Amino acid sequence: MPKYDVVIAGAGLAGTTAAFHLSKGSRVLLIEASGVGGGATGVGAGIASPILARKGNPTYEARSALDDLDKLMAAVGFRAEPQRPLIRPALDKRQLRYYERSAVENPDLVEWLSTAESLARYPGVSAPLGSLRLKRGHVINMRNFAIRVAAAAAERGCEIVAPAQLESWEESADDIAVRFSNAGNCREAVRATRLILAMGVGYHTFESLRELNLHPVKGQLIRATCPAALCDLPNVTGPGYLAHDSGDIVLGSTFEHGVVDTKPSGNATREILSKMLPLVTGVRDADYSASAGVRVTVPGTRLPMLGPISAGGRTWIYTGLGSKGLLMSAYLSARLPTYLADPEEIPVRMRPHLATK
Ligand SMILES: Cc1cc2nc3c(=O)[nH]c(=O)nc-3n(C[C@H](O)[C@H](O)[C@H](O)COP(=O)(O)OP(=O)(O)OC[C@H]3O[C@@H](n4cnc5c(N)ncnc54)[C@H](O)[C@@H]3O)c2cc1C
Repeated sequence: MPKYDVVIAGAGLAGTTAAFHLSKGSRVLLIEASGVGGGATGVGAGIASPILARKGNPTYEARSALDDLDKLMAAVGFRAEPQRPLIRPALDKRQLRYYERSAVENPDLVEWLSTAESLARYPGVSAPLGSLRLKRGHVINMRNFAIRVAAAAAERGCEIVAPAQLESWEESADDIAVRFSNAGNCREAVRATRLILAMGVGYHTFESLRELNLHPVKGQLIRATCPAALCDLPNVTGPGYLAHDSGDIVLGSTFEHGVVDTKPSGNATREILSKMLPLVTGVRDADYSASAGVRVTVPGTRLPMLGPISAGGRTWIYTGLGSKGLLMSAYLSARLPTYLADPEEIPVRMRPHLATK
């Protein structure tokens, strides 16, 4: 039976970035049930914003995570499209005060634009109270990014099998036996020192992982060829968002708590448009197609979940990236070799707690 240092199940942002960092020095197998960059990664708009929407506070380890994402993009040779500005109009007077304060406290990340400045720079965006302009961050196609990261991991020696669906695993004192079914529906088994479960909402199909109390949140996006009138707009976030992607505009998003199906709905499309119309009236004039995915979140912490979930310490979970997949995966995967060597290094609030651990 082939033997690996690490088997990773799931090739979304978590699995591909983990594979890239671990392949330097370890024998890694990455198995993916559908296609690389599928799951939530294949749906999301790809905004990597270091600022939280409501109060304009920085996200978890925002600056380090941005540095890690920049380094990863450079290391794998991922070239983002020329970046447009990303702005957040203030929605009310209270948010205006939060955003003004954020600009004072985080001058490296954001600048505050008064109503007049915002209008002069971005006339197509309604911002009657002014807006926050991000100085750092990205909007990138997450599926293409994950595919590029996986290719770079393969260049480092990582083996990738897709489609290959993880079916079961069994830990012993010496190693872990990992069983999966491949494209021809044939069963295969390999042995590994560690197994990392980076399956996004795929956790849901394993009874033992339900104990982790992860929380799925379905989200829908709509996409259309960018109407000429909107082509010069910046990327905009607010109650929803507008992002540019290779000549398309992508509008999002919805939040359906506890829902794991990925079927788009007309209601969600209407909700997205009603969120964005007050900011950009022109969004109504496009012919949209819809897609949906499921973000996995960790109730209580709003942080990812990473670490061993078995008594022997060989089975790890890596999930809960929420809406911050790009920044969190870049940050955590860069530290994964250290965490695997010494799990005590994992931030306490991210460690999984299993009743039967
Ligand atoms: C609508 C929406 C918009 C979003 N917008 C953004 C955004 O703008 N910016 C941002 O940073 N984040 C965004 N996100 C969040 C981001 O998409 C996620 O945080 C991130 O993609 C999660 O990555 P993951 O690898 O944990 O899971 P996933 O991307 O879901 O990947 C899991 C992978 O595991 C595979 N899998 C499942 N079960 C198995 C199995 N048994 N065996 C093998 N493989 C399996 C799946 O096929 C999948 O490819 C958005 C999410 C949604 C839903």
